[in-house]
Amino acid sequence: MKKIITGGTVITAADQYKADLLIEDGKITEIGQGIRAEGAEIINATGKYIFPGGIDPHTHLDMPFNNTVTDDDWESGTIAAAFGGTTTILDFCLTTGEDRLLDAVDKWHEKAKDKAVIDYGFHLMIADLTEETLAQLPEALEVAGINSVKVFLAYAKEFQASDRTLFQAFKVGKEKDAIVMVHCENGSVIDELVEEAKKSGHTEPIYHALTRPPQLEGEATKRAIELANLAGAKLYVVHVTCKEAVDEIIRAREKGYQVYGETCPPYLVLDQTYLEKPNFEGAKYVWSPPLRPKEHQEVLWNALKAKQLQTIGSDQCSFSFNGKKQLGREDFSKIPNGGPFIEDRFSVLYSEGVAKGRISLNEFVDMISTSAAKTFGLFPQKGTIAIGSDADLVLFDPNVERVISAESHHMNVDYNAFEGLAVKGEPVSVLIRGEYVIRDKEFVGKLGSGKYIRREVKKEEKPVTHKSFTTK
Ligand SMILES: [Zn+2]
Repeated sequence: MKKIITGGTVITAADQYKADLLIEDGKITEIGQGIRAEGAEIINATGKYIFPGGIDPHTHLDMPFNNTVTDDDWESGTIAAAFGGTTTILDFCLTTGEDRLLDAVDKWHEKAKDKAVIDYGFHLMIADLTEETLAQLPEALEVAGINSVKVFLAYAKEFQASDRTLFQAFKVGKEKDAIVMVHCENGSVIDELVEEAKKSGHTEPIYHALTRPPQLEGEATKRAIELANLAGAKLYVVHVTCKEAVDEIIRAREKGYQVYGETCPPYLVLDQTYLEKPNFEGAKYVWSPPLRPKEHQEVLWNALKAKQLQTIGSDQCSFSFNGKKQLGREDFSKIPNGGPFIEDRFSVLYSEGVAKGRISLNEFVDMISTSAAKTFGLFPQKGTIAIGSDADLVLFDPNVERVISAESHHMNVDYNAFEGLAVKGEPVSVLIRGEYVIRDKEFVGKLGSGKYIRREVKKEEKPVTHKSFTTK
């Protein structure tokens, strides 16, 4: 059915203007003043901003990790994302121990299939990069429609890649024109610091932060940058948290290296003191890399503003406080690493960024949607408001004031890391490919309506036979 959105202010990464939008067959087909179309439903957006749907490039839904599994699956996770103004996620497909990488992809499709209410793609997350998996990687990317691979320099016992393996992944990235995402922390040294802390009898959550100092993020970031550059690959540093890492990224970009950086809302708003909360409540704020001392926040905002960091991922990876986080009650190193952020990513960045005057509306759209679309090959189908683009739209009321709370959120977890944070602005209605998923703050979507979005890599080049060179 046709829809006309009228009276709103369209905001893209480049522009801000009042216009009507015509939506037909899930696409934006006309932008202009006084649009009319026979039989179209009229949506009045007076007083609202119309943003392109948020693109969250970093989620972990229904993922096994730290001896448990994340609490939000593809149903609660994508519904919460939609309430928060996110219309596409890129989730990490965990590959570990499968004989075939494509089996892991099938498993991830199975998790998402009848549940996702928003569109989605996958990154291939390589937990153990053996010679066999490495050999399959180029073809797996091509067949699965995935143009991004993630490798870890952290989690020594579970996921950590050696420098050699990391370098091999970069070579595949270069060959397939796929971006390589790296979790940059020095996992081996962290393990040593964790052992040291435990030997001294330290068990509290704050030691999670104290055993993962910023220097180890900076060191791993620099290492990944140099190895990626040596291989000629594009590097995307996930969840950048501190000055040490930002400095390395800026230095590399100034030299012309193909390095991109992401940060996440908690690092912009919360700080290390949250891990000191009494009664084990610090465990709610345990994820990696950890929250940093407050002075790093300004560094991150400045790097975003200067486009040295380009994207905002949620790093959604929820574990209930009264359930799964308790695994680490006696030992901080056993607290499942992760937090619930998929729903509040968009609003926290708007409120702390735009409403507080740190970033412009256009910069906001770029960080929350457009940059991720461009980086991961979704643009211009996603990530902007333009003729021919998917009608993934957020009708946003900038004047609402509200307080974030687990009482009112839609994630399947018993706490909210931003509990009590007063924010300005709220997504009121959200459309995906022209269909309402959220209408006047009510969920009206359909389970399984989310579509998998393929992202192409460089195809295997078939050798060309030149007839002129063949002789009889
Ligand atoms: Zn993550």
